Parts: sequence; C-alpha cells; structure tokens
Amino acid sequence: MRKEIKRIKVKDLLVSKSFGKEVHVKGWVRTKRGSKKIGFIALNDGSIIHNMQIVVDFPEFDEQTIKQITTGSCLSVTGTLVESKGKGQNVEIHARHIEVYGTADPDTYPLQKKGHTLEFLREIAHLRFRTNTFGAVFRVRHTMAYAVHKYFNDKGFYYLHTPIITSSDAEGAGEMFRVSVLDDLNPPKTPEGKVDYEKDFFGKETNLTVSGQLEAELAALALSEVYTFGPTFRAENSNTPRHLAEFWMIEPEMAFYDINDNMDLAEDFLKFIVSYTLENSPDDLEFLNKMYDKELLERLRFVVEKEFIRTNYTEAIKILKNANEKFEFPVEWGSDLKAEHERFLVEKYYKRSVILTDYPKDIKAFYMKQNNDGKTIRAMDVLFPRLGEIIGGSQREEDYDRLKGRIDELKIPVKELWWYLEVRKFGTAPHSGFGLGFERMVQFVTGMSNIRDVIPFPRTPRSAEF
Ligand code: ATP
Ligand code: MN
Repeated sequence: MRKEIKRIKVKDLLVSKSFGKEVHVKGWVRTKRGSKKIGFIALNDGSIIHNMQIVVDFPEFDEQTIKQITTGSCLSVTGTLVESKGKGQNVEIHARHIEVYGTADPDTYPLQKKGHTLEFLREIAHLRFRTNTFGAVFRVRHTMAYAVHKYFNDKGFYYLHTPIITSSDAEGAGEMFRVSVLDDLNPPKTPEGKVDYEKDFFGKETNLTVSGQLEAELAALALSEVYTFGPTFRAENSNTPRHLAEFWMIEPEMAFYDINDNMDLAEDFLKFIVSYTLENSPDDLEFLNKMYDKELLERLRFVVEKEFIRTNYTEAIKILKNANEKFEFPVEWGSDLKAEHERFLVEKYYKRSVILTDYPKDIKAFYMKQNNDGKTIRAMDVLFPRLGEIIGGSQREEDYDRLKGRIDELKIPVKELWWYLEVRKFGTAPHSGFGLGFERMVQFVTGMSNIRDVIPFPRTPRSAEF
C-alpha cells in the first residue's frame, strides 16, 4: 500500500511554491460551485481565514462521493498543487483522491451560505467556530493570550496559578457563586437554625473566586513580579454587553512599584498586546475591520501610537460637570463613574486613552493605598474608547495599621483575611497591581460589540448552554 503523504495546513499551502507536487489537505467545505464537468470547492481548516480552492474534474470521481460534498461536510483531499489562474487565490489543488470524513445534510445543517446574525450564531455556539467571523475572533483571542504570556515572561514576571475555590471575597462585592456539597434539600443546621457550613466539604463557606489578586500579592512579596491569568466568576445580575458571569482576568502584582510604575506598566502592556496582535493576526483583523467595524484598525493604531492621558478623578469630575452633555447618570464628587462618563472623557474630551487616579475611598476596595487627604486612595482606572474602564488597579496599602483600620471600618471579617494582613507585618513593601478583563480586551481588539461573542461559550444570567 502507498504510504499516505503528510497533511499540510491551508495556511502553509497558500504560500507554498511547490507547484506540480502532490499535497494532502483536510478541512470543512465552505462552498461548492461549478458545472456538471468541473467543480470548485472552498475548503477551510481553521489555520487561516482564507480557503483552499479544490478543483474537481467531476467525471473522474464516483457520483456518490461528489453528492456527499456539501457545505459543512469534512474532506480529506489529495491532489496536485497548481498555480491558480482564477481570481482571489494564488494556488489551488487539482484533486486526485477525495475521502469524505463526515457529511452534513443540507436540509438540516444550520450554516448555509447566507449571512447569519450574531444572535442566531450564539444559539449554535457549537458550530459558530466554522464561520469566518468566529474563526477570526478565536484566532485573535489566541494571539492575544499568547501575547500576554510573552509580555510578562520577557519582563521576568512569574505566571502564578491562584485558587479558583476561595473563602475570601476580594472585592467585598458579595456577588459570588457558592461552592458546596451539602444536601440542598436538607442541609445540616446550626443551633441557631442557619446552614452549618462547618459540615460542608471545606469546613467553611466557600465560593468561586472573583479575583486572584489577594493571593497574587502574597507571591509578589517574595517573587517580586508575578501575574495571574485565570478564570473569575461574578454572580452579578448585569445583562450588559460588557459583563459575563465567568470571565478571564489578568492580574499582575509587583513589589517595589508605586502608582506611577503601575501606570507605566499598564500602558506599556496594553500597547504591546495591541501591536503584537496587529502584527501577528493581520488577516483576521482586516476581515473584522471590513465586516463589523470600519474604524477598527485605525482605533487600534491610535491606541498604540498615542500616549495615554494621566489625570485624577477630581479633575475628571470637574470636566464632566462643565461639559455641555446630557448624561443619564448624574455627576457628583463621590459617586462612581459610569461608562457614559468614561467614554465622554476618552472619545470627546481628551480623544486619547485615559488613566484616572485618586478616586474617593468609599467607591473603591479596602486594599487600596490611602492618600494623606483622608478622602482618596491611590487607585487607577484605565479608560478606553468604546468600552470605558478596561483596567482597574491601585498601589496597595502596605501599612499594617492603616489596612487593619480600613478593614475594621468596613466590618470585613478579619478571620478570613489574617494571612493578607500578616504579610504587612513581616517584611512589608510598597507594591502595586491591576486587573485586566481579558474579554474586554478581546472585545476592544476585535471590535465585537457584545462580550458574548469573544468567549467560546459565554456564561450569563439564565444562560449556561454547551
Ligand atoms: P465594571 O464597573 O465594568 O463592572 P469592575 O469595577 O467590577 O468593572 P474590577 O472589579 O475592577 O471591575 O475588575 C477588573 C477588570 O475586570 C475590569 O476592569 C474589567 O475589565 C473586568 N471585568 C469586571 N467585571 C467583569 C465581568 N462581569 N465580565 C467581564 N469582565 C469584567
Ligand atoms: Mn463590576
């Protein structure tokens, strides 16, 4: 028997110059057209957005095989690589042998040639990978994830895996998913009639993590520079195009960084992710630019080239109050900024990405370093066009007494955080960090307007299919 030659990916074949050589490709049929005598199959294997054109001399193949080749079917093709005279491609394969791995009944296969809405494709998330759009989005997502690791590795940061099940609530927001093995119909009770978590798996109440930050800080105070890149969970009932119940977060934590070092890192990091993706996913980004967002590439280059504006919250409030702009939510010193305010600052006022610092302490988390004015803390939010906040970070409070004071003020149970306090007791150091929601960043880079379209299988209120 003839030894089968090795499969080559479409991506590599499209730039190959081995004309006249026998090659072997596998992939899914996007379209089939032609006459009785000759057929043209567009084959895609996901390695690149472009298809390989397969030219089939129909009379040379058995009718049954040709019939089975329909949109969505999967083929293994052997043939000769030929320089293409047709428009739209440089090479094509003249098929000699075709094996049909899997058919796709045209009457029931949901992805026919016509364009489908993103909403419809969300309902068939198991198949949407096979569209040009989602192929592009998930290849870009991969490129970005790789860029994250490359950036930090090149800078000497260590990748840290923080726990997914925790007993602490980092944000104090209380929007957590409980993890329990107790019988929900008949849970053990305390003498006071409450559920007795003492009898639960971990002997205490546990939840899915909302952030790896607190644990990452512990490592930073020994390894100097670490980052996490893992799943986080928030049971917030916000059905917005920017919120998921399960999302991936990147959280660098650095010893010896003050707020300015933190801002420098955040700006440099974001610019690296964007420029790396521009360089390494040009075809996919061009496609997304053409299909969904004509200003996408321009916006990405803009973020890379322009220095971010750095100013503080109080200044931002002044600008917003003096703006001749009808906001849905009122602007008052002391209240949190909404996306509409953030976008005004970025898109209309500064026309640059913005980093805002020194927020009122009452709207931010307990761990942020307190300024001497007694009112503000050393927080920093990075604001981007179209999205508003993309990064939230701060210099961390390294002073034991000040941190303990804030924890008591907010009535956060110290019992759960003794370890977090203890590193301030033993060899504390100034340190900083931030959190970037990975999907928000993928949204920004792909131009997709709904966050559900940049994660393979989105988890949102009342939706956990697949
Ligand atoms: P928002 O005000 O948009 O809800 P947040 O203040 O709750 O954000 P942080 O707690 O600071 O956000 O989390 C850090 C980053 O994680 C945010 O800047 C954002 O990029 C991302 N993020 C937060 N919540 C979500 C979510 N539900 N889905 C996806 N990304 C999120
Ligand atoms: Mn939130």
